[in-house]
Amino acid sequence: MSAPILPVIPQNPVIIIHYHEIGLKGGNQAYFENILKRNIAQRLGDMPGARVRHMRNRLVIRGLRQGDATLAIERLQHVFGIVNMSIGTEVDAELDAMKQAAQDLVQGLTFQSFAIRPKRAEKRYPFTSQDIGREVGSAVWQVSHAQVDLTHPELEVFVEVVQGKAYIFAEKIPGPGGLPVSSSGRGVVLFSVGFDAPVAAWRMMKRGLSLHLVHFHGQPQTDDASVRKARALAKILAEWHGRIKLTLVAFSQAQEIISVACPERYRTILYRRMMMRVASKLAWKHRCRALITGESLGQVASQTLPNLAAIEDASSFPVLRPLIAFDKQEILQEAQRIGTYDISILPHDEACTLFQPRRVETAAKIEDVRIAEEELDIPWMLEQLLADAVTEVIHPDWWVDGVSQRQ
Ligand code: ATP
Ligand code: MG
Repeated sequence: MSAPILPVIPQNPVIIIHYHEIGLKGGNQAYFENILKRNIAQRLGDMPGARVRHMRNRLVIRGLRQGDATLAIERLQHVFGIVNMSIGTEVDAELDAMKQAAQDLVQGLTFQSFAIRPKRAEKRYPFTSQDIGREVGSAVWQVSHAQVDLTHPELEVFVEVVQGKAYIFAEKIPGPGGLPVSSSGRGVVLFSVGFDAPVAAWRMMKRGLSLHLVHFHGQPQTDDASVRKARALAKILAEWHGRIKLTLVAFSQAQEIISVACPERYRTILYRRMMMRVASKLAWKHRCRALITGESLGQVASQTLPNLAAIEDASSFPVLRPLIAFDKQEILQEAQRIGTYDISILPHDEACTLFQPRRVETAAKIEDVRIAEEELDIPWMLEQLLADAVTEVIHPDWWVDGVSQRQ
């Protein structure tokens, strides 16, 4: 756990969740909120009683058992769309109840100064925000004798009054931000198992894409190390994504055909073009609207501007490259933060290192590449590649089937 949590979890805890960007989407707000709500509910599927409720610009989790609150927060730190969250209590929107709840909440906390941060979602209450600040402030002072400091308080006590209830909490724990997974549509990730592709996948998830992963492996020419890495990396992404599909495509035969039939210097580009085609077919099948790669400008010979264009030419969908402007160092740091680094660093034989060319074209012309490809029976190759492809579903540990329907 990175963020500190209240030393004493209230007996009937609620979790108050704030989001930001999605609040700005005007008419689409309800659409985003519903997806966020569903993604949150999915992570609480194994916690009896927990229910997510939408209360104006926030979501509130109620019915949680005291012992589940810390684990719930840990899981919610992997839910894109959440800006911050707090453990607190819910009482009826009456000053006496708020005062008592605030006193209970600060028990066990040590602080020299504090501020009350009141907020009313509606104006219909018989008290103002100033009333809340004054009344709840004096209640907190009675049990703590700490000073009120509105500019740099050691402790902030938030009181949010909404739809007849008051939520009292003391600490905002940061969430990952971004947009809820699947609010922006779906994409196919060309999922190699080095450092880049998993980070690229994570970045697109953070922008609200749900993902379908496709990994091209070299078996039986290579061992199964890359496939095991792909599964382990998919499992880490599933913590953020929820259940995720991984399609495994045996690629060595296609590479062999390309390496025999086409000029050596175009090999890498032609391998990649074939990957783009397979990924595009999968995208059609799984209703995806984009392909995603871990390419970064100039990182290796196949990632020059002309070569990126020659590769993208074979895709039927926009190719998103979230790492295009990243340094390797930045990618490695991000891999460490996400938790993919330790798996990405393990050794494996790349599909693409089989039949590797000695000389690599760095300025491929699309017309020349297309001519080089004329020797290939592309529809037949695609059919073979897809016929042997295997799709697996990778579940995070907390996954419970059917939760989103239940909410
Ligand atoms: P990575 O760190 O993601 O493995 P890389 O630095 O090895 O990338 P390349 O090998 O040039 O770079 O690959 C560029 C991109 O092409 C990868 O990020 C990935 O999106 C896609 N790609 C390459 N090889 C494969 C593969 N075997 N399966 C799926 N996608 C691949
Ligand atoms: Mg690679």
